[in-house]
Amino acid sequence: MSENLSAFIKNICKKYKNDHTRLMDIANDLQNEFGCVSGKAMGLIAKELSIHRVDVESLTSFYAFLSKQPKGKIVIRLCNDIIDELKGSAEVAAAFADELGINIGETSPDGKITLEYTPCIGMCDQAPAAIINEVVFTNLNSDKAREIVRSLKKHGDPARLSTPLGDGNNANELVRSMVNNNLRRKGEVIFADYKSGDGLSKALSLSPVEVIRDIKTSRLRGRGGAGFPTGMKWEFTRQAEGTKRYVICNADEGEPGTFKDRVILTECPDLMFEGMTIGGYAIGAETGILYLRGEYAYLLPYLENTLSNRRRNGLLGKNIGSKREFNFDIRIQIGAGAYICGEETALISSCEGLRGDPKTRPPFPAQKGYLAAPTTVNNVETFCCVARILDKGAPWFMEIGSKGSPSTKLLSVSGDCHMPGTYEVPFGIKVSDLLKMVGADDVAAIQIGGPSGQMIGPADFKRTICYDDLATGGSIMIFNSSRNLLHIASRFMDFFIEESCGFCTPCRVGNVLLKERLDRIIAGNGEPSDLIYLQELGESIKTSSRCGMGQTSPNPVLSTLKNFRGVYDKLVKKNKDGLMCSFDIKSSLKEAESIAGRPSEIF
Ligand code: SF4
Repeated sequence: MSENLSAFIKNICKKYKNDHTRLMDIANDLQNEFGCVSGKAMGLIAKELSIHRVDVESLTSFYAFLSKQPKGKIVIRLCNDIIDELKGSAEVAAAFADELGINIGETSPDGKITLEYTPCIGMCDQAPAAIINEVVFTNLNSDKAREIVRSLKKHGDPARLSTPLGDGNNANELVRSMVNNNLRRKGEVIFADYKSGDGLSKALSLSPVEVIRDIKTSRLRGRGGAGFPTGMKWEFTRQAEGTKRYVICNADEGEPGTFKDRVILTECPDLMFEGMTIGGYAIGAETGILYLRGEYAYLLPYLENTLSNRRRNGLLGKNIGSKREFNFDIRIQIGAGAYICGEETALISSCEGLRGDPKTRPPFPAQKGYLAAPTTVNNVETFCCVARILDKGAPWFMEIGSKGSPSTKLLSVSGDCHMPGTYEVPFGIKVSDLLKMVGADDVAAIQIGGPSGQMIGPADFKRTICYDDLATGGSIMIFNSSRNLLHIASRFMDFFIEESCGFCTPCRVGNVLLKERLDRIIAGNGEPSDLIYLQELGESIKTSSRCGMGQTSPNPVLSTLKNFRGVYDKLVKKNKDGLMCSFDIKSSLKEAESIAGRPSEIF
């Protein structure tokens, strides 16, 4: 075994040219083969790559899909986001656990199968869902869970259980997944007919500066959520000092409730790669990286094949489009289960073979990004827009959508509606019209933009989805009147607590305190001053956290406080005669009683 390990590590490091910036790939390969990155393996990798062992340990301990302790050859990762919970994931979890004879977080006694929870895997439109190794299982119930375990015990091959195959390219020979696109509405921009190479050939007929000019004219803004103008970002990157430049596509859509990039990656990856290539031409880069979230690893062979086809057709490689001196190629970097890597500087760290820690800004990635070189990081949907703008022109792009927010937006709709799925809608669509479109009635609340966005109620359903009103990276979660909205907010706080990288105190500690106080209110033990505490602590976390994640993490509490104040008011108890009505003396004495080993007398 140890000879095997040593030989495997030597080979795998050689495959990545003993390049320490490829540590993520090396660790992922090792995890897949041996079920862990053991202490011994860390030492061997460090030696091969001429880095410190602690660097390998630091990376391994950061990512959820990597582990120092051995896991089973089969790992069942059951999604535990709020939508899966509402669709019955607890029953599915119980069935998996019962059939395996273990608890969540454990490995079967024969060491073969590990069962654990994982945050959103991008399948909220077909929840409950799980990933078993790299195979996705959707629309689970307890019977299916039991059947899966019985079959895995027999043959140990999750891929054999992936039936029936899903729609569109999910049935492609290189995908063979039971995932469904659920593409409910195609718009004029992303999912319209498109011929590969059209946008690129038009871009190459212009100078790089003219390409940036067209993107600026189109007023394209980043589709990932922050909405920064793409043309301006490219201009900064092009003008920054440096001999090398990089284009990175952020396909790490980890915001719970978001899955629209999954549909692009399945149905039109060529359009996205074309946008990246145009980006490379515009900023003067020779290398592009697609950062693909580990949860979408099932798409990897298909995406690699798309890249090979583009190379064969002269759309990647040397002298692209017979344009001398335009050389550009793309590699795919697989993530390993860390939401924070959706933040662009954390994503860059991950591409560099490091923990996904966000970096301090400035300098911004446009000045010093990947390997300290000028780098543009854009989202999957943004790159698709780029290819379409170059093909059809900036005026065409601007005619669609609303005045302040041109074009279309992809929305991932999930929760309490009849038709969950992906919708390409013009910017400026009213929330009420969207609800009609997706078949949602009796709606009490909508979470716009995922947990880091805001929860709105019926009073806001006349508002519109666009950058100037309700901005969203794409996640739309719908909740009907039977749902406990504060429980949902509390679950969102669980998510942020779990995903905080831990670097700064407001985010690492503040969110724990925020959730504790919220849960106290939910349990009926809150008082009016708790609401002031929530507001002040939430604001303080927002203003003092280091990166976008911490700055938006109190939003589940702050937006419910703002838009659903009545729900809080009903739960908190006013003090009477100077006494705290919410004070529960019995539960407060429990710890002291257990230390003293005797009950207290209460008069
Ligand atoms: Fe890490 Fe949170 Fe601080 Fe961001 S805000 S750096 S995620 S601890």
